[in-house]
Amino acid sequence: MQSDRPTNHSIDDGSKNTVKPPILWLPAIIFSSTMLISLTLVPWYGYEQGYSWGLGLFFLLFLWANGLSITAGYHRLWSHNTYKAHPILRLFFALFGAAALQNSALVWCSGHRRHHRYVDDIEQDPYSAKKGLWFSHIGWMLREYDSACDDFSNAKDLQRDPIVAWQHKHYLAIAICMNIAPPVLIGWMLGDIVGGLLIIGVLRLVVSHHTTFFINSLAHFWGKQPYTDENTARDNGLLAFFTYGEGYHNFHHLFQNDYRNGVRWWQFDPTKWLINAGAWVGLTKDLCRVPDFKIHRALLDVQFKRAEQTLAALGTSNERAMQWRSHLDTEYQQLTANMNEWNALRQQWYKQKSDRFSEATQELSKELQRKWEQTALHTRFKELEYALKMQRKRLNYLTAQLNLQPG
Ligand SMILES: [Zn+2]
Ligand SMILES: [Zn+2]
Repeated sequence: MQSDRPTNHSIDDGSKNTVKPPILWLPAIIFSSTMLISLTLVPWYGYEQGYSWGLGLFFLLFLWANGLSITAGYHRLWSHNTYKAHPILRLFFALFGAAALQNSALVWCSGHRRHHRYVDDIEQDPYSAKKGLWFSHIGWMLREYDSACDDFSNAKDLQRDPIVAWQHKHYLAIAICMNIAPPVLIGWMLGDIVGGLLIIGVLRLVVSHHTTFFINSLAHFWGKQPYTDENTARDNGLLAFFTYGEGYHNFHHLFQNDYRNGVRWWQFDPTKWLINAGAWVGLTKDLCRVPDFKIHRALLDVQFKRAEQTLAALGTSNERAMQWRSHLDTEYQQLTANMNEWNALRQQWYKQKSDRFSEATQELSKELQRKWEQTALHTRFKELEYALKMQRKRLNYLTAQLNLQPG
């Protein structure tokens, strides 16, 4: 929740000398009153009257519709363009995203793009983790911080999307309707309007708010950093469980163009599964995936970096460290050779693709030859990926020998 506001206030960097910007009363009242009702009236009513199973089911359905509209819609579709979606799906995201009461997609995405561009910067990242857990979770929405200003210069593509533009223009009306009509309607259908308003209206909103806010707060504080340690983003499987897969935030910050956050098939990422399922029925297409080789490379880079740091700490006088240094040098040479070959193969691959398009007709023998070359290229790509995977295992082993924590 944010409101339109002037952007001339000084930044509060947490130091005691700076004056804090004024409080934004509307979001402050909404966050605190809904939380208060969830902690008092919701359990009291449940104790006195009880909630039906039907209400519980709709609570979960509405909660997931909100959450997935934020993660698959606001985040992976509109903020990062990781796939394309049919207008029906975009409309669904616009309606249920508004129900989540986290501002219009345009405001949300433009802020989120700034978060990625200036991650951790205390002045330009709207929810910089460097300003603390509270600030990155909710504090950034409670005061008129300049870093959260509504500047859409980085979201011109979204302003051209008619559904995003429509949702932004009528955001308040859509958000109010989507927060009142469904709880009342479902409550009326199930013969318990007050119960519907309490758990589908209020409790759903509070749970939806704070689970999504975890991505900005906890996912920058708690978890592992296997892909990059250049920023505070973390991978955390437990958090992924509560955030529709967004807990794999370390991967996401390095590969923001990939529609997956939990990149491994077994990682809990319902947002990825929804986007995938959409492709089967024609609601989504052009899903972007980072090549596996680049992912292995990122993991290896972090492993090498950690190994180098440990080695530096051990010093050169240690014999085991000297031995390890020579192993590491060999591995690094191997990695450089593989990278060079991979880059050359990519160039060859693109050239073949452009050749194929530039020639209208093809002789059969030429086509066959090309297909054979493509297969050979593909095999070599796979071999190189495998080589990197093995190298990661060797590095893990070397690291374990020195009683280090593998990356
Ligand atoms: Zn993102
Ligand atoms: Zn982040």
